[in-house]
Amino acid sequence: MDELSLYERILGLRDPWAVEHVELSEDEVVHVYIEYDRDTEILCPACGSACPRYDTRDKSWRHLDTCQFQTIVHGAVPRAQCHEHGVLQVDVPWAERNSRFTLLFEAMAIKWLKEASINAVSRRLGLSWNAIDGIMRRAVERGLSARQSVDYHHIAVDEISSKKGHRYLTIISNDSGQVVDIRDDRTKGSLGDFYKSLSEWDLKSIETVSMDMSPAYLSATKEHLSDWDQKICFDKFHVAMDLNKAVDAIRKQEMRCVPTDYKKPLHLSRFSWLRSEASLKRHHRDTISALSKVAKKTARAWAIRQYAMQLWNYSSRGWAQRAWSRWYSWAARCRLGPIKTVAASIKKNLWGIINAIVHGKSNAGAESINSRIKLLKVRARGFRNKERFKTAILFHLGGLRLLPAHLN
Ligand SMILES: [Zn+2]
Repeated sequence: MDELSLYERILGLRDPWAVEHVELSEDEVVHVYIEYDRDTEILCPACGSACPRYDTRDKSWRHLDTCQFQTIVHGAVPRAQCHEHGVLQVDVPWAERNSRFTLLFEAMAIKWLKEASINAVSRRLGLSWNAIDGIMRRAVERGLSARQSVDYHHIAVDEISSKKGHRYLTIISNDSGQVVDIRDDRTKGSLGDFYKSLSEWDLKSIETVSMDMSPAYLSATKEHLSDWDQKICFDKFHVAMDLNKAVDAIRKQEMRCVPTDYKKPLHLSRFSWLRSEASLKRHHRDTISALSKVAKKTARAWAIRQYAMQLWNYSSRGWAQRAWSRWYSWAARCRLGPIKTVAASIKKNLWGIINAIVHGKSNAGAESINSRIKLLKVRARGFRNKERFKTAILFHLGGLRLLPAHLN
């Protein structure tokens, strides 16, 4: 195979495109020159009808290196003059419209971006940060426009801070661990806009929505979903978090009242009280039982929390309801302010907790997405703006087909 046909093969060229010549320049760059056959008619890229050639433009694209030599593809690209669509540049088979890179080059950059930050990839490829960012953005746009159907049966809604200044994004994910949408802020409107963007069919396909007990997501869901009282599931981990905050608040209050010798141990014991039953090690239990004798309120709050966390394994609505009623009557009489506040909120929202229990739904998947998003932030050393952050989330967690169509 000669050099010209080798490059034609590598770039996937077919008639009427052909490699005219290849050269290695003084500065050790391989230049591949491609032309469109003069005698072949030109088709309008919009309607496909044969048109006269208006003119020819010289374009170039960065391609994968050839044996460590940087390689540039040059194309003499004709423009068609369509009587209906005007003057349009024909599409080339080796690159997407408006890209300065060949498809194979973009595919390689996308694969690297899966593993490393934009900074690292741009350094490695000797390209600007913006160029690599552009490849990432195009990949996400391509993936979103190729996305055909999304599974909305069981979704989870969660918030994540996009910056230290308490700016938030609302992340909507499904139970395959795919981020299906991202909206600005964490208001009723954030989630409402997501619901509004769905087709009637998709909206009807939603069977459960897992969320925390805050009013914003709740009222958006009430407004947009029929039978919301059967579909909204209040997430176990968020209930645990609310109870943890109450236990911690009581421990802090009690620090002021315990004998001096116990102040430091009680201070240091913070995380022992907040662990889930499954992650309690022997020494955590020892700490808790030793401190229970002096920090009686903390111990009581902790016991109420532990009990609540055991009430998530029912399959019958009736049994679950009765168990939680018993828990509530204990929690409501405990004379511990912060616990009583959480208990009141749980009582009010018990229907959604019971839904979560009988449907077996939680934000566990969403929580793991959340921690992966945090890792992305660390790897990128923060994001300069919200749009970049959203692009990165969809790139890594959107389950999108990112590569150009025939390379997927
Ligand atoms: Zn046309």
